[in-house]
Amino acid sequence: MTKEYNTLKNVIELPHKYAAGPAWTRFYDGLKQEKIYGSRCQKCKKVFVPARSYCPACQVSADEWIEVSQEGKVISWALSISHEFFGMPVSPPFITALIRLDDTDCDFLHFIGGIDLSDAKKVKDLIKPGLKVRAVWNEEKKGHMMDIRHFVPVSG
Ligand SMILES: [Zn+2]
Repeated sequence: MTKEYNTLKNVIELPHKYAAGPAWTRFYDGLKQEKIYGSRCQKCKKVFVPARSYCPACQVSADEWIEVSQEGKVISWALSISHEFFGMPVSPPFITALIRLDDTDCDFLHFIGGIDLSDAKKVKDLIKPGLKVRAVWNEEKKGHMMDIRHFVPVSG
């Protein structure tokens, strides 16, 4: 026989601040100006977006800053239909995607929007790895990842 335990359901919040550091601060400042910046490793020449201060492979400074394309391609994606995730800036349904911006070397996690999400089969037919997408900006900028509202498919 399984023992029954009394449980209490509760939500615990953990307000916090973190130091963005020079690389993230510069990256976020770029977003305020509708620019996406990456940093390039001087040794392997890979470009990282969001920009970071060092190359994780070479363990050297990635301190060359470059403005990168606002277009890229979908690497992978997921459609969330009903589950609310703690801290997510949008409510379901939504699509999260790993996006590789043109001429960069790592994937960028963001949302795909601007499409009808009511029919999962149609979404699946439209969103494929390799789909070309471009950034759409929010009117109001806060120096935050969500200054980019989402990415939309590029037609043609
Ligand atoms: Zn490197």
